[in-house]
Amino acid sequence: MSDATSFARLPLADALLTNLDALGYHSMTPIQAQSLPPMLDGRDVIGRGKTGSGKTAAFGLGLLSRLDLARLDVQGLVLCPTRELADQVAGELRRLARALPNVKVLTLCGGAPFGPQRGSLEHGAHLIVGTPGRVEEHLRKGTLSLNSLSTLVLDEADRMLDMGFKDALEAIIGETPEDRQTLLFSATYTDAIRPIAEALMREPVTVEVESTH
Ligand code: ADP
Ligand code: MG
Repeated sequence: MSDATSFARLPLADALLTNLDALGYHSMTPIQAQSLPPMLDGRDVIGRGKTGSGKTAAFGLGLLSRLDLARLDVQGLVLCPTRELADQVAGELRRLARALPNVKVLTLCGGAPFGPQRGSLEHGAHLIVGTPGRVEEHLRKGTLSLNSLSTLVLDEADRMLDMGFKDALEAIIGETPEDRQTLLFSATYTDAIRPIAEALMREPVTVEVESTH
């Protein structure tokens, strides 16, 4: 296919493209079509689109395309407001990653015991999906390092701020390399997000989508 919404026009590995087709993702949603080209160019992206617009696969493909599978270290971190959302995002990342050999996705959320998470971290992970409080706790206790992080994703950034995660977010961001790529997704772009986004992102490309299709 050569039409404007075909995933095949993106510089993605053939294995990822074949798997998208197998998942029934035959064309990009509007937010995917607008955010993926700058994301795959390494740009910072602010994406605004309502629930169901396909934001997870947008940043998921961005994360997977940057992975160096020769290394087993934390290269991507997705922060989500709730454990339920983190589980959904991790599930989608695992489906998208099926095409690639042995991508390790780990969830780190509050409400689950700390010890097993520490054990899983010792075995290594490429991508972490978690809630800010628990991720910050792992950083504070030295059980997680973000020194190799290449991409940071804030999913539902507006809700994370509403839920009082501002301090945890700032503490986490302070532990990430300055040359990282930052992707911020939100249903709304509020006055609370603006100063954080400005401090966090370098010349971001802003993508806004009203409808799902
Ligand atoms: P959002 O995070 O924007 O609320 P999701 O990422 O949860 O949206 O996606 C909503 C639904 O759309 C999911 O069930 C997902 O599998 C599906 N989806 C995402 N991208 C595509 C696509 N390109 N083609 C078909 N379905 C898609
Ligand atoms: Mg979402």
